Amino acid sequence: MKRIAVLGSTGSIGTQTLEIVRQNRDLQVTALAAGSNVERMEEQIREFCPLIAAMWSEEACMDLRARVADTGVRICCGMEGLLEIAVMEEMDVLVTAIVGMIGIKPTIAAIESGKAIALANKETLVTAGHIIMPLAAKHKVPILPVDSEHSAIFQSMNGENKKRVSKILLTASGGPFRGRTKEELGAMKVEDALKHPNWAMGRKITIDSATMVNKGLEVMEAKWLFGVDLEQIEVVVHPQSVIHSMVEYEDGAVMAQLGMPDMKLPIAYALFYPDRRPMDGKKLDFFALGHMTFEKPDLETFTGLKLAFEAARAGGSMPTVYNAANERAVSLFLERKIGFLQIPELIGACMGQHKVIEHPNVEEILRTEQEAYEYIRRVVN
Ligand code: NDP
Repeated sequence: MKRIAVLGSTGSIGTQTLEIVRQNRDLQVTALAAGSNVERMEEQIREFCPLIAAMWSEEACMDLRARVADTGVRICCGMEGLLEIAVMEEMDVLVTAIVGMIGIKPTIAAIESGKAIALANKETLVTAGHIIMPLAAKHKVPILPVDSEHSAIFQSMNGENKKRVSKILLTASGGPFRGRTKEELGAMKVEDALKHPNWAMGRKITIDSATMVNKGLEVMEAKWLFGVDLEQIEVVVHPQSVIHSMVEYEDGAVMAQLGMPDMKLPIAYALFYPDRRPMDGKKLDFFALGHMTFEKPDLETFTGLKLAFEAARAGGSMPTVYNAANERAVSLFLERKIGFLQIPELIGACMGQHKVIEHPNVEEILRTEQEAYEYIRRVVN
């Protein structure tokens, strides 16, 4: 029996993780955590009977406590709750499926307690990869990628000599606005940006796909996860989203992982690694697919991706600024307070005024995040 805890259980990755649990009787959920969605958390508690459940806000905690008083499940709150789950004895794998840098501290706590990490929360590696990866190596804890591209790279490196990797080819669908001009992007509304051509995901990451900021975050995530130089990572636009990413070796061989665009595959791979489990749903049909195409990303139109390479090159605290500024800009866009093109503009402006801290510790990362939030608030007001 593998015991898992899911941080962000009510979200897109969280609910798909629980679907996998439903189909595999050798997985047991021992803890769940979410932000404020008390109704869904109550349903999940009644179905999966965890030992602990955590909600971020005090109000949500009190509400949940009253709702599930008959179950005996312990309800805890805020960061304290996340940290309690991260180190609990009755857990083997922590699935980090919350959005944002809130994931850093629980991930560190879990690694220090020797728990395997199934990592979806890319912000943790983008901002604190220099802390997380050496810590995981020190504690001999596996960081198993849940992001489909990183899972594909991980699968393409199985059994290979990693020193012989020459390039990582990170594929991108190009999002709903592939091929559009900058002028056209300026007119895009929230509804347009939320229509991803291939993947069904949470709102924030769907907007990040439309701006290609998501790909930028994934470049930084890949750099840390696979210990490669930034120059070894190339973004390849592949609109069919069938090849989930590739690895080129020094002899010219390219290994790739292909499949239908379904997040349950990489989630299950992370949970059962190195095993594979049967999956429901359609399998890849090459004859129906017919062809696959590839393009270079348009960095002049999708400046969010260009800025990601600049942030990664600057290093230190700059990726935190990139991520935090984007987070706030996306919220403002979803609230219809700014236009689509203002998202990368705000990220660029926020990066422009930041003085890089070389090797930021967790407190410095979190302070940098707050400073970026404050900057965006001032500028937009
Ligand atoms: P969603 O917005 O769908 O879900 C986020 C989850 O985090 C919800 O359960 C939410 O709870 C919870 N949450 C938010 N804030 C807090 C908090 N302060 N404390 C505790 N829980 C909190 O996001 P996704 O599932 O789309 O994404 C999760 C992570 O996975 C992100 O880092 C994303 O980049 C990454 N990812 C997502 C993919 C996808 O297909 N969706 C693919 C690859 C990576 P509540 O519902 O109560 O608000």
